[in-house]
Amino acid sequence: MPATIVLGAQWGDEGKGKVVDALASASDVVVRFQGGANAGHTVQHAGVTSILHLLPSGVLQPHTRNVIASGCVVDPFALLEEIRTLVESGTELAPGRLLVSGRCHLVTPIHRAVDQATGGAVGTTGRGIGPCHGDRILRRGLRIRDALDGFLEERLAAQIASWGAGSLGLDEPALLAAQMAPVLETLAPYVADTEAALAEALARDERVLYEGAQGALLDIDHGTYPFVTSSSTTIGGAFTGGGVWVTFERRIGVVKAYTTRVGNGPFPTEIEGPTAEFLRERGREYGATTGRPRRCGWLDLPLLAQAVRTNGYTEIALTKIDCLTGLDPVRVATGRDPDGAPVYREMEGWGSDIGEVRDWDDLPRACREYVGFIETALGVPIALLSTGPGRDQLLGSLEP
Ligand code: GDP
Repeated sequence: MPATIVLGAQWGDEGKGKVVDALASASDVVVRFQGGANAGHTVQHAGVTSILHLLPSGVLQPHTRNVIASGCVVDPFALLEEIRTLVESGTELAPGRLLVSGRCHLVTPIHRAVDQATGGAVGTTGRGIGPCHGDRILRRGLRIRDALDGFLEERLAAQIASWGAGSLGLDEPALLAAQMAPVLETLAPYVADTEAALAEALARDERVLYEGAQGALLDIDHGTYPFVTSSSTTIGGAFTGGGVWVTFERRIGVVKAYTTRVGNGPFPTEIEGPTAEFLRERGREYGATTGRPRRCGWLDLPLLAQAVRTNGYTEIALTKIDCLTGLDPVRVATGRDPDGAPVYREMEGWGSDIGEVRDWDDLPRACREYVGFIETALGVPIALLSTGPGRDQLLGSLEP
């Protein structure tokens, strides 16, 4: 059975959580394949807001099974906390509903401390993701399976030595191991051979949904390096991180109707002043993980075209279009001038609230023109249009 993948097309925070949550209702299995608890999906339904960091958004749909595949890095404390919070709010999350790959690398307190001490220049979330991937690539990482097989203290001692963590106040591997061991024991029932489980689900013709975290421009290879995350956020990451061959019949790129970026790094269409403030307040553009205000700017078609090329989107889900309501004109970058500065097209804005609109034809004309312009420029159909944070504020079909 072909699978579906949802990927962020910008610098993350595009509203993927809501799109995945909506698609998960028609899925049997939902898979996270990269990233860690540095992601922050916000999903609202029935008046309840849930922020998910590492758990796949499918956990909020009771009928799904959810996979944290080997490409993810797992902070055991953060994962256990996330599971507990959901369970306390009434979500059933027994082992079997959640499968965590034993090949996932563990984010340790050493990684967190190193990230917090050194990650500022890139603007990381300080969650230890980069140092954990560093150890993974240098072949000195600590995987969940290794920890459960008795190598926990030994590997922590090696990490302390290699990161010089003694100077950060972390110099007792036995103490760290004693803190981590009970958490790992609690998580152990969730640890599974996720590759086999995924292959079996696909062979049984189950509906499998892959959920990307962050966005295309944060990809370690294809993003705005070095201001990127440490994993493959583009479609290739689904294969290396999932570990299973799969055909993605639907490849959905989630595009916010304007652009935001957290942290440092280039942002050609960034704006400042009242319009940026307008977008930040309207879109509540503050990080779900860190609370940091996001930088705001206009939509950037050249960068989106690059994301289309890398990921081969078959559809686009355009989100937060409601946040542009009241701006006039609305600008879109269509190219670059010889100095590399964005060239803008000015489009007419619209003033009427669209949060209650449930039919494309009922959208204001200028709004339809904006959507149509993006669709034509990128050559990818905008199959979904999100007009507000609510689950039902979505135009278009989710059916395959
Ligand atoms: P993600 O990491 O890509 O899931 O993005 P975030 O969860 O950080 O940001 C999405 C935020 O925007 C959440 O607070 C959502 O409830 C909200 N959101 C999603 N879609 C829309 C939309 O169409 N309009 C508005 N106003 N908010 C939305």
